[in-house]
Amino acid sequence: MFDVVIAGAGHNGLVAAAYLARAGKSVLLLERFGHVGGLAVSAQAFPGVEARVSRYSYLVSLLPSKVVKDLGLPLDLRRRRFSSYTPVGTGGLLVDGGDEDRTAASFANITGGGHEIVAWRRFYAMTAAAATAIAPTLIEPLLPRERLKELVGAPWTDLFERPIGQVVNELFANDVVRGVVLTDALIGTFADPDVDLLANRCFLYHVIGDGTGDWNVPVGGMGAVTGGLAAIATKAGAEIRVNAEVVAIDPATGEVTYRDETGEHTVTGGKVLANLPPFTLARLLGEEPSERPEGAQLKINMVLKRLPELKDRSVDPREAFSGTFHINESRDQLALAFRQASAGEIPTLPPAEVYCHSLTDPSILGADLRRSGAQTMTLFGLHMPARLFDRPGAKEEAVRRTLVSMDSVLAEPIEDVLLTGPEGVCLEAKTPVDLEHDAGLPGGHIFHQDLSWPYAEEGRWGVETVHERLLLCGAGARRGGGVSGIPGHNAAMAVLGR
Ligand SMILES: Cc1cc2nc3c(=O)[nH]c(=O)nc-3n(C[C@H](O)[C@H](O)[C@H](O)COP(=O)(O)OP(=O)(O)OC[C@H]3O[C@@H](n4cnc5c(N)ncnc54)[C@H](O)[C@@H]3O)c2cc1C
Repeated sequence: MFDVVIAGAGHNGLVAAAYLARAGKSVLLLERFGHVGGLAVSAQAFPGVEARVSRYSYLVSLLPSKVVKDLGLPLDLRRRRFSSYTPVGTGGLLVDGGDEDRTAASFANITGGGHEIVAWRRFYAMTAAAATAIAPTLIEPLLPRERLKELVGAPWTDLFERPIGQVVNELFANDVVRGVVLTDALIGTFADPDVDLLANRCFLYHVIGDGTGDWNVPVGGMGAVTGGLAAIATKAGAEIRVNAEVVAIDPATGEVTYRDETGEHTVTGGKVLANLPPFTLARLLGEEPSERPEGAQLKINMVLKRLPELKDRSVDPREAFSGTFHINESRDQLALAFRQASAGEIPTLPPAEVYCHSLTDPSILGADLRRSGAQTMTLFGLHMPARLFDRPGAKEEAVRRTLVSMDSVLAEPIEDVLLTGPEGVCLEAKTPVDLEHDAGLPGGHIFHQDLSWPYAEEGRWGVETVHERLLLCGAGARRGGGVSGIPGHNAAMAVLGR
């Protein structure tokens, strides 16, 4: 009998295990794969090529400094000076966090005046104020809606009540600028931001992380984050069993049945924490699952011989690719892709964003690759819902169109700079269907299910279920989603009765 059995050793399961073991609880983690970390892992994706890519998630924003400090996590996060670059014709929009004048000049060039930068600064001052108010509440007992509304103050209406697409259309006149803002509402989220407040929820979690909304590069990749968490949990006495797939949970008795290579076993937990998507959990409980979630992204990992040339000669590719590099993500292009995907078609010019981890953190490359000028490249494609991939050849077509989309904004084809390793070209692509298959994500939804508002009238920590003994401790909890450790922290606090 363990005090706590945790099903799943993603980063949230590890955070919960670390808090609980350090509080003196006996903790067992059961993980179906041969490694911990879930979606927060580094992998040598291309045999014989010494590059450890963050295979799924890649940037950290939502992980509270308090959790890092409480656990003594040795985390090295590097801020990206250039937050984004968006090619526009033979020019581009550069947001340079280290040079306000350069950013203003870039806005003026692209938008033909001084108004958009003023609106931009005003808008992000508003989201920063909301971030300062909301972030600390995420690791406290839930507030009811009205209480959070009071705390947030003036930004509430635009962030929580009016569709973010309408807000952005009103505040910004330029189609490219509108799109750059709106992408944060559409990451892994298939929604029309002009009407659907689901886009607001996605947007909110993209701008409030740890009170700043900054998206930083974890040195050593995501595997370094979860490796550190696993070491802390283990040192504190938590036991981790890998290759142990949970096949049933009895919430009344706390019995958890799992399968490994020696057969089926049952362990009992005083409390059982589920680091699993709620859809998966329902199946393990023998309950009717709610609606199947649906992810909507195409992830492509690449290793390049060198960075590609840009059409825009005024920006160094090292600057452009170290932040988020937007590809065909203007508001109109996003809207067209949404309409096409809603009609069951792969978007003709898929909107996507790329970034180069190795520019900020060369440690993920072996010495030879570093010397040769090679770089990693991570692409996150929008509006690629799982429903598009139920027919043969759809993945190949989506990848082909996405590369054509990328080529349309470069001065040379990306294919010309892809590195070839001993087993072929260094490019791997993951559709939502692949994520379901490879990472056990129902519908390939990167947040386990649609994100929820960070308030509620019921449920003290947002992790409770109808079963007293069973708590959620994964992205599907209220205030979950992203590499945040928040559900793990909150589940641990609930167990400890805090
Ligand atoms: C392509 C992609 C890009 C992303 N980019 C970012 C990003 O840059 N930044 C960010 O913050 N977030 C990002 N996310 C989202 C983020 O990675 C996830 O929301 C987060 O990692 C979820 O963590 P978790 O611990 O709750 O769950 P998971 O990481 O999903 O872990 C759940 C664990 O449970 C295990 N498991 C499942 N079923 C069983 C079973 N039956 N028995 C035992 N174990 C089981 C799984 O193997 C897994 O290890 C991205 C996600 C994807 C897919």
